[in-house]
Amino acid sequence: MSQGQDELNTEDLLHGSAQVLHHFMSSLKSQALRCACGLAIPAALHRLGGAATAAALLDETGLHPSRLPYLRRLMRALAVSGIFVAVSGATAGNDDAGSAETVYSLTPASRLLVGDRPSSAMSAMLNPRPEAGFAMFFKLEEWFRDKSGAGGTLFKMAHGVTSPWELAREDGAYNTVLNKASAADTTLVMDVALRGRGGDVFRGLTSLVDVGGGYGTAAVAIARAFPHVKCTVMDLQQVISEAPDDGSVQFVAGDAFESVPPAQAALLKNVLDCWSDEDCVKMLRQCKKAIATRDAGGKVVIINVVVGQGANDVAIRETQVLYDMYVMSVDGIERDEHEWRKIFLEAGFSDYRIMPILGYQSIIEVFP
Ligand code: SAH
Repeated sequence: MSQGQDELNTEDLLHGSAQVLHHFMSSLKSQALRCACGLAIPAALHRLGGAATAAALLDETGLHPSRLPYLRRLMRALAVSGIFVAVSGATAGNDDAGSAETVYSLTPASRLLVGDRPSSAMSAMLNPRPEAGFAMFFKLEEWFRDKSGAGGTLFKMAHGVTSPWELAREDGAYNTVLNKASAADTTLVMDVALRGRGGDVFRGLTSLVDVGGGYGTAAVAIARAFPHVKCTVMDLQQVISEAPDDGSVQFVAGDAFESVPPAQAALLKNVLDCWSDEDCVKMLRQCKKAIATRDAGGKVVIINVVVGQGANDVAIRETQVLYDMYVMSVDGIERDEHEWRKIFLEAGFSDYRIMPILGYQSIIEVFP
């Protein structure tokens, strides 16, 4: 036995090797999910009344009959990891266990992937340009070892430019995919954020500027829920120039490091986690200049991960730290409360309040 293994008893050896393999194989979880979404299996299940056998799914999705045994195995893998539920034919009340077909049904997770409702958001997120997303992580070790480039990001190593926004400026198709994916995700998140306590954050405001607001999805949702809030969306030129404009919000192209249009409050949704502390402080200072005083209801509203907040659930905890690995590629950070507080104080804010009401993300109100 090699060093390290000789101190392990049988149980530890078996458990340990399963743990290691589980990590290695987890890459296939995302590929299985991506494949199921690409084949529109959640939508097919939905059309079939929410539950169906693999044979019915094969028919509904139009796949070649030779793929049936493979489809069963794809469905089984995704059922074990909680994307679908599998009920074996025998248990489902079919006495003839030999010919009993397993029935698969939708779970709350796969209902989000059905495709004909706003929450189909998530399937849009899973599809675009995988090579611009996860493939660069095959170079993570190389990036760690690289001694030449202080400051070069993993994104730069993979794509030649520092950030997705720079790539988007040069590559129109990539720009559109990126903006659409953000907009889809935002539809889902704002739907929840505007309910209950989350809605109270925006109620009563007179005006709001959504900094790095993309296509304006969040601003439009806020303006719809609270028609008295005058909303402005600010983003880079390449984003604003193709944002769909229904006239309900105002669009302004600019650079938030230079200046932010004035409003009573500012929203920063999924923006600050893409930047270093130093850059966040710069952007937050511009926001502080743009908003009203505290007495006049001025505040910055941040929607982002606060690591360690939210339900103590493995999916939530892992999503928070895996997102952190993801944004590492552009020199961004998913911050815990202590790290957020540090940049708020440095940017001249006096106080903040965290509401961990968005699953793996939180709403933070920051007061001048
Ligand atoms: N808030 C949106 C988009 C988040 S993605 C949403 O939640 O859906 C981050 C956004 O920041 C992108 O739209 C990007 O174009 C924008 N951005 C990047 N650098 C910026 C800058 N210097 N000034 C303003 N916006 C910027």
